[in-house]
Amino acid sequence: MTAPAAGTSGAGDDSLLGVYRPQGPIFERGEGSWLVAEDGRRYLDFTSGIAVTALGHGAPELIEAAREALERGLFHTSNLYRTRPAAELARELTRHTGLDRAFFCNSGGEGVEAALKFARRRVGADSDGSRGRGFVALRGSFHGRLFGSLAVTDRPAYREPFEPLMPGAEFVDPDDSDALDRALDPERVAALIVEPVQGEGGVRPLSSEFLQRARALTRERGILLICDEVQCGLGRTGSFVAHSVAGIRPDLLVLAKPLAGGLPMGATLMTEDVARAIQPGDHGTTFGGGPFVAAVALAAVRRLADPGFLTGVQARGERLETMLHELADRHPSKIREVRGRGLIRGVELDGPAAPVVERALERNLLLVGAGPDVIRFLPPLTVSDSELEQAVSILDDCLTAGDDS
Ligand SMILES: *Cc1c(COP(=O)(O)O)cnc(C)c1O
Repeated sequence: MTAPAAGTSGAGDDSLLGVYRPQGPIFERGEGSWLVAEDGRRYLDFTSGIAVTALGHGAPELIEAAREALERGLFHTSNLYRTRPAAELARELTRHTGLDRAFFCNSGGEGVEAALKFARRRVGADSDGSRGRGFVALRGSFHGRLFGSLAVTDRPAYREPFEPLMPGAEFVDPDDSDALDRALDPERVAALIVEPVQGEGGVRPLSSEFLQRARALTRERGILLICDEVQCGLGRTGSFVAHSVAGIRPDLLVLAKPLAGGLPMGATLMTEDVARAIQPGDHGTTFGGGPFVAAVALAAVRRLADPGFLTGVQARGERLETMLHELADRHPSKIREVRGRGLIRGVELDGPAAPVVERALERNLLLVGAGPDVIRFLPPLTVSDSELEQAVSILDDCLTAGDDS
């Protein structure tokens, strides 16, 4: 083997488009909360592939479900025909969310895109054309990179190079109920879209009061409420869906990242009232809900919805919260705030997060930022107490090490 050329990674990935700048070693295996590199070094994975591998790497029940599905030889049929796993998965998801129908697709962005389309279809269904077709979203939001989902994403750097986006999106500050009240004009707006815990925007949980007010205002005005739980849903916060702490039910709910335990899958769930407005041919997908991914998702969802499992997530989430507050007490000049719920936690620093993430990687801990100055913790939901302790202790070292550089 010759040494890699300067400026290349040695991963042989020079032919990959450079939309990412991947860091660190080349990974070849996964074991629970750990990723193992080609040279045998082990890394504690507190990103879970961005909230995806919620049951850890190599979860036996997922491997078993995948093996069974593979052995049936049924990778794909398209939605022209019926298969069992998608139907069972839809039943399981509707049962655990209180919604009535599910549409399956292949990613979070696609799920958001479907929700925006279904919302427009619903408000258009019983009006004379005077009903608003726009969307209200929140400051700090992230909903995806497609033209519709990007239009409701509050990230100028992601948006501007690609304008014009879908027109008709407006933004209000989270937790500003008065601004929300003014923005929710049914002559302009079809739906409000929110993340109950903003992920990419810096791990910011919305207050229950704000979510309840959003639900009351939208219901009163015939505007639909979309909860984007692509990152915070499916057990991440310690409840199956994050909005349930506010005691509300949205009209549309988008799930994705951990849905199929690491395989690509998204879901848009909706009430019967929305579903009734959707006709055959209104929307579609070649791959969505295929029997292989759906079989694996079924195994993942059964585990993620288990009440005993969720109680464990809550307990470990509280443990992590306590440890991060203790860390903040030890580094009062460096840590501004600790936020989050369950096993999605953000540590806001008094400075850029990237150098700390880099120092953590050197110490075999994988972390990811959320905005310029927030470090995000997204461990597998199966993480152990001792792994939580190891991660916080490594971060403690990284913050101390920053003093000498
Ligand atoms: C990641 C994310 C998306 C986009 O999901 P993709 O699978 O990357 O398209 C949408 N909404 C939220 C809240 C996310 O965190």
